[in-house]
Amino acid sequence: MRRPLIAGNWKLNKNQEETAAFARELLFDLGDEFPEVMIAPVFTSLAEAKQAFANSPVRLGAQNCYAETGGAFTGEISAEMLKEAGCDYVILGHSERREIFGEDDTLIRRKILAALQARLLPILCIGESLEHRESGQTEVVLQKQLQGALAEFTPEQVEHLTLAYEPIWAIGTGKTATPEMAQETHAFIRNWLDQHFGDIEAQKVRILYGGSVKPGNVDALMAQPDIDGALVGGASLQSKDFLRLIRFEQG
Ligand code: PEP
Repeated sequence: MRRPLIAGNWKLNKNQEETAAFARELLFDLGDEFPEVMIAPVFTSLAEAKQAFANSPVRLGAQNCYAETGGAFTGEISAEMLKEAGCDYVILGHSERREIFGEDDTLIRRKILAALQARLLPILCIGESLEHRESGQTEVVLQKQLQGALAEFTPEQVEHLTLAYEPIWAIGTGKTATPEMAQETHAFIRNWLDQHFGDIEAQKVRILYGGSVKPGNVDALMAQPDIDGALVGGASLQSKDFLRLIRFEQG
């Protein structure tokens, strides 16, 4: 019922030339694949990516947006501008935005609203630190992030969302949550959605896993019933690796 999404977050990597080269390599091998595929390049590579992935099934995403449509916000970009640049998705609340740039749940909530207004599909990232995982606080942290970002949203708004569970300790570290651990947490998140927005929405919303997803672990992760895709950093930078993720074995 939920079509999987394999999404690449390129972070601060790949200039325009490298973006075009990646697209050429990926599209050479990419067929009519089962999952939805999304790439989020840096802002200055969006136009190149739009051209390179035109007439292909690869959709574009942005790695961030601001909560306002315009004005005196030096260095920011609006959701409308990203839509105009060809994006369908925007990643919001990534742990690097929260930790390095000090974004809190209130700002993330405003950004989600701005994205929805611009008809961008938000991918909301949530996840706990190692300290919280080890002290048994994972669910408390996730609940707070979900509540802070999504409280007072309507079920109709939530339907347009994708969630990404990204344990911070697994991002870029080579450590992955075991498939069972990830499944347990995804089930908790889906249950939270059920309690706040109802079963229909909870069953519709995709929950991606992110945190050192690689060709060697993607199949076991994707075999879990509540894992609906992957948000991938490192392994999305090499077209061969990314293609292998897109072609995960469906068990
Ligand atoms: C990410 O940045 O969202 C991520 C999951 O990175 P990596 O795959 O490199 O852990």
